[in-house]
Amino acid sequence: MNKIKNICICLTGLALYFSANTSMASEVITKADAKRPNILVILTDDMGYGDVGFNGAKDIFTPNLDQLAAAGTRFDSAYNAHPFCGPSRAGIMTGRYPHKFGSQFNLPTSNRSGGIGIPVNETFISEELQDAGYFTGAIGKWHLGEEAQYHPNNRGFDQFYGFLNGGHDYFPENFKAAYERQRKRGMNHTIFHYLRPLERNGVEVDETEYVTDGLSREAQGFIRQASKNKQQPFFLYLAYNAPHSPMQATKDDLEVFKHIKNEKRRIYAAMVYAVDRGVKKIVDTLKETEQLDNTLIVFFSDNGGRADYGASNFPLKGVKGSVQEGGFRTPMFFHWPQGVEAGKEYIHPISTLDLYPTFASLANAKIANTKKLDGKNLYPFLANNKSARPGEMIYALRHRKGLSQASARRDNFKAINVGKVWKLYDIEKDPGEENDLSEKYPIILREMVAEMEIWSWSNTQPLWFHIQKEGFEWREKSMPRFHETFALPKLN
Ligand code: CA
Repeated sequence: MNKIKNICICLTGLALYFSANTSMASEVITKADAKRPNILVILTDDMGYGDVGFNGAKDIFTPNLDQLAAAGTRFDSAYNAHPFCGPSRAGIMTGRYPHKFGSQFNLPTSNRSGGIGIPVNETFISEELQDAGYFTGAIGKWHLGEEAQYHPNNRGFDQFYGFLNGGHDYFPENFKAAYERQRKRGMNHTIFHYLRPLERNGVEVDETEYVTDGLSREAQGFIRQASKNKQQPFFLYLAYNAPHSPMQATKDDLEVFKHIKNEKRRIYAAMVYAVDRGVKKIVDTLKETEQLDNTLIVFFSDNGGRADYGASNFPLKGVKGSVQEGGFRTPMFFHWPQGVEAGKEYIHPISTLDLYPTFASLANAKIANTKKLDGKNLYPFLANNKSARPGEMIYALRHRKGLSQASARRDNFKAINVGKVWKLYDIEKDPGEENDLSEKYPIILREMVAEMEIWSWSNTQPLWFHIQKEGFEWREKSMPRFHETFALPKLN
């Protein structure tokens, strides 16, 4: 279908070309395309807010990411739609809170996810960009469904290289041997998915490099392929699984971090560094193919880091899975020499749900009137450094163990309930969530909690649970029990 679409676009182009004065037609095409950037999303997995140089890391070196951040616009308060992997990615792809279409849990851990995935009636940004004429690629971790109808090639990506589930081992010499041993024992249906071969467009491949390096290599290959037709912009979604567990780093990268005494932190740092090395190669390839100037690079992590695996979300409180800032606020920047100012910091709150409408606008994609979106087109707000959503809320809602954690950010305030009590912080002045202002500003807290409760009324029941136990708890404890989640003490 994609090939047919591409052929149609080419034929239309040819018809235009021959129907007008040759030089004029090509000039028109060039000018129109110059306005549409290539879009390169570089996503990391479970990276801490404080684990890149441009957010203050001293012991982890990320010189290449830092250089891009300094030459672009850094986002101080960028939030994911959820504090863990699957729902966060569902938000990025659909531009909607995953709670609105039943995808608020990770897909089940089973090797085969039972034929489920992000509902196909939710249009992905990749489909919008492909329809708008972009050459599209996904590389790395998918985690949005494994059956044919949920496969990246059927969700707007011309090219896919990587793995469909939620993670992968890093060293081929180890995971290939383990996979072969288990396969020979006839364990085909129970082999842990982190050990399975990677694939290219549905066909198993023999990856021979440390997986982070393999994904960087594939990104370079995609960019070179894209450069053969500069009339067609590209969209590349590069989703590294680093620095997600299993914690495995190369000897060379570990050598760089000899100064870190804590072993977990040292391995984690080396895994982040491998991403940074890859980013340098990718930027070099963009330069070589003369595409860097018109490529919007967006870098961020899908959720916060895990301290137990060596990550640091400093100065934020909380870790992956929490609706405290450290759970879902991510390091982030935009780099685009022709379209984004260098050396800027954007302090207003944004959401990774904003990427969908932002990309669609830059690509002149025509979003269907029926498409629901929870984000904002950020682009017009970057240049004047104004908030894209004054007075509007950004939500985080995580269901767990019989209760729900909930938080809402509005301008400089954040309301949060991680137990049974709502608290309020001036998150601009107090990013560490230390000084509760709920007694000082009870009306502001009430407004925010009430607004979030109304938002929750249109959430749908989960279509799946990550593990069976979650499903039992959900049913036995009559989840989500929003009357408790949004309850506040009476005003005096
Ligand atoms: Ca993650």
